[in-house]
Amino acid sequence: MKITDIECHIVVVPDLKEDATSSSQDDVVVLVHTDEGITGIGETDTGPWLVKAAIEAPGSHTMAQGMKNLLIGEDPFDTSALWEKLYTLTAMSGRRGAVICAIGAIDMALWDIKGKASGLPCYKLLGGAMRDYIIPYASLQPEGNSVEQYGDSLVSWAKRAQEYGFKAAKIECTLAGPYNHSGLQGSDEQMTEIVRACRETVGPDFAMMVDVQYRWSDVHTCLRTVNKWDDLDLFFLETPLQIDDLDGYATLSREAPMRIAAGEWQNTRFEFLELLDRGQVQVAQPDVGRVGGLTEAMRVCHMAQDRGRLIVPHCWKTGIGIAASAHMAAAIPNCPYIEYLPSELCDSALRRDLVSEPLEMKDGIVKLPEKPGLGVELNIDALKTYSI
Ligand SMILES: [Mg+2]
Repeated sequence: MKITDIECHIVVVPDLKEDATSSSQDDVVVLVHTDEGITGIGETDTGPWLVKAAIEAPGSHTMAQGMKNLLIGEDPFDTSALWEKLYTLTAMSGRRGAVICAIGAIDMALWDIKGKASGLPCYKLLGGAMRDYIIPYASLQPEGNSVEQYGDSLVSWAKRAQEYGFKAAKIECTLAGPYNHSGLQGSDEQMTEIVRACRETVGPDFAMMVDVQYRWSDVHTCLRTVNKWDDLDLFFLETPLQIDDLDGYATLSREAPMRIAAGEWQNTRFEFLELLDRGQVQVAQPDVGRVGGLTEAMRVCHMAQDRGRLIVPHCWKTGIGIAASAHMAAAIPNCPYIEYLPSELCDSALRRDLVSEPLEMKDGIVKLPEKPGLGVELNIDALKTYSI
């Protein structure tokens, strides 16, 4: 089998809010075509125009080659070999950032092709399922233009997620810091009140995580607040510090009263190696598209397993990435949860419409996808509607 063409489709929701901290508003869908009529589907979570450029741009010399040119004529089954080829021959323009995200979307599509061609779901090709279901956690999407509205919305979302059958949910408590919601400026005390109110709403028998989206600029200010959250039994605290402060992460991982999670932005296993060994985080959160695809994500999962750490993948795009996360989660023993929101609860039109028959949760669990490949069907009408 040979790769014959690669298409990149940029899609954006009609009601794009530029001040919203949510990357579910855009996407780049990458289609890899083959000479046997099988097409693989992939996506990645970064600026979609950059990914399209990274894939389609012609090369200029041996260290900055064009990705599409490198792939035409290659065998899509050679996922590890092609990963190495793409990484090595784009090194001067790549190694990290959008080029790795682009490799991630392509690699996801190649695994989809391998599964479709062999009639097997991807998790089988990744080594087989460790269990026959996955436990999703709901990422709650707060609304409101004041701290009070924001807090009330989180509490009602937490209640709604629990009533919907979830066993776990993550509170996006972003009242300040560089990615604060709609310009809000809340205090650390107000954050504590909101997190506490959410815990009181869901009760003790429910896993609760908190994402503060890089809120604090130093570890001591962070500890002053999160030490007060000891009795709230949080499963993890996500990205409390600037992501390059790895020594700060190490201090927090040692001293904070809950697990520390990070990794949504990390590209390649090399960045996870730093995060795990220097940053010492207890929970690594690879986003399959961003880290470099299923090939690279599985390497990260195994590195975390070797060190006794957990994997809880980041996933905030569409049913394509969710499927990739689910296959990966099934094939490793150290993944207690995946990030997931049922499309009907999501405010992103892309999340709702881009994939027909997305994975469904029942009684708080998601059954393994059993269709060949990633097992997702692209809704071509939605792709056309939201394409720009
Ligand atoms: Mg996050």
